[in-house]
Amino acid sequence: MNKANPTNEDTNNHSTEPESLDFVRAIVAKDQQTGKWDHRVHTRFPPEPNGYLHIGHAKSICLNFGIAQQFAGKCNLRFDDTNPIKEEQEYIDSIIEDVKWLGWDWQDRLYYASDYFEQMYQYAVELIKKGLAYVCDLTAEQTRQHRGTLTAPGQKSPYRDRSPEENLDLFQRMRNGEFPDGSRTLKAKIDMAHPNLNLRDPVMYRILHAEHPRTGNDWCIYPMYDWAHGLEDSLENITHSICTLEFENHRPLYDWFIDSINRDRPEQIPHPQQIEFARLNLTYTVMSKRRLLELVQAGQDSNWDDPRLPTDQVSSWDDPRMPTISGMRRRGYSPQSIRNFCQRIGINKFNSTVDFALLEHCVREDLNKTSPRVMAVLNPLKVIITNYPANQTEQLDAVNNPEDPSAGTRQVPFSRELYIERDDFLEDPPKKFFRLAPGREVRLRYAYFITCQEVIKNENGQIIELRCTYDPATRGGDSPDGRKVKATLHWVCANNAIPAEVRLYDHLFNKENPSEVEEGRNFFDNLNPDSLKSLPQCFVEPHLKNAPPLSRFQFERLGYFCTDPDSTADHLIFNRTATLKDTWAKIQKQQKNQQ
Ligand code: ATP
Ligand code: MG
Repeated sequence: MNKANPTNEDTNNHSTEPESLDFVRAIVAKDQQTGKWDHRVHTRFPPEPNGYLHIGHAKSICLNFGIAQQFAGKCNLRFDDTNPIKEEQEYIDSIIEDVKWLGWDWQDRLYYASDYFEQMYQYAVELIKKGLAYVCDLTAEQTRQHRGTLTAPGQKSPYRDRSPEENLDLFQRMRNGEFPDGSRTLKAKIDMAHPNLNLRDPVMYRILHAEHPRTGNDWCIYPMYDWAHGLEDSLENITHSICTLEFENHRPLYDWFIDSINRDRPEQIPHPQQIEFARLNLTYTVMSKRRLLELVQAGQDSNWDDPRLPTDQVSSWDDPRMPTISGMRRRGYSPQSIRNFCQRIGINKFNSTVDFALLEHCVREDLNKTSPRVMAVLNPLKVIITNYPANQTEQLDAVNNPEDPSAGTRQVPFSRELYIERDDFLEDPPKKFFRLAPGREVRLRYAYFITCQEVIKNENGQIIELRCTYDPATRGGDSPDGRKVKATLHWVCANNAIPAEVRLYDHLFNKENPSEVEEGRNFFDNLNPDSLKSLPQCFVEPHLKNAPPLSRFQFERLGYFCTDPDSTADHLIFNRTATLKDTWAKIQKQQKNQQ
């Protein structure tokens, strides 16, 4: 697999020096300099509201809004709502929320393609009058057959030479609702032998008796994407119409539409410049709304009477394992980390796949600076401090964020009964295990040195409790006599700790490229059955009891975690955002060493 090699290491690169610009920004900078668009820069992000946004969309959002910001221009948010069958208000609402959450602002420029339906209809009428569009009665199947192939020219439709008068009448009647779905289309009259198949008399309008989320039943003909998209940009006076590479082949058609409308027209309509860039692909991720919708539907269709969470199926669009923006938000990713990632991967002309580890690296880099540290124990093992007074609780000072002194300190309670992580004790430790073991002394973070004196087991031989002693002279975690210990453990106070459920996530798919499937199988077969592990009996510091949904923390030594939207004071739920282990940094180091 061809991995992208991000060259832009500086995540705060806002320089406008031409040599530091990606190729899209270089074009925009030059156009602004030469005054090609009267020194204006106007972009747009044009989602179709047929699903939730994913991280690939974030790349496009950051590019379009980022260019507007950098060049003192404007960027519109426009819904490309031309297909009422697949579009829903829920998607519109989620897209608005996600773009805002990422930190971008379209001000008063929220537009809908459906607002232009009447204008587009009038443009189509103009093309009919010029003899450049015709009503065709071929079925969808016949149209496909007539189109030809890459090596064979297409065949002309028998309806191609209808007179403009007849076409105008039929088109009006299509709009009036006189014909059933699929019985007629309006087509552009271009060239059935054109080497670019997109120009072989493409369909401009189809009949669809479907209710539209915004225009209701006003229309029963709807414009095709290729007809509508360029006109939307033109109507909004967009200067740079930035899209992904698969539309390169469509550009001649968009040009043909606008040039044809402008032919012999007293008032010319604007002709934005289209620029194509490579879409984002990520390892272990599928990134098509259609696929993501299939995952969500499969999750909803399976009857989960079982209160446990599905482990190999997602629960919703914002399931923390989904590559959606809402899923990443719920997982605990910060908007800044996603923006940094988008800047880091850069913009280029060649399709490639970015390592998921780079995204996680950007998440850690940002969360390390911003998230308060707390202590939580995921696999609790009880520790009794035998020489600590039974009814005493003291408060110890703990640092909130060593990366940010302004974050201050907090107090954590300490008493005779504690929990530590089960993994942090071994009865019979191997050579390189420096944590707690019988007879060994370790530091409890912010608290005291403790020594394990006794191991208590149940009748099955399982360890259920450790009896330890503490050294009162080591309060705060320092020994006055300079005595050293080899490990520092996190812990919580058993009397005060709050029970919590913690959900650990792994890649949703267990293949680097989940879309690669053997014959007779599909991408569902590549789902990772271990992508979710729920730990129902964890403990966290008491002050987390009222943490509002989507609060981000670093659990010391364990990773970054975030309260789930469903979390309440009575049932705290944390999602693991990322572990502390930075595999991307490791990969980079290995590559450096090899050079
Ligand atoms: P999908 O392929 O996931 O269904 P789409 O292209 O159909 O996405 P749109 O709503 O049309 O989704 O996309 C809005 C904008 O986001 C378009 O300009 C599109 O080019 C861009 N975009 C979509 N996917 C990616 C991606 N993976 N990387 C970068 N830009 C993307
Ligand atoms: Mg699209």
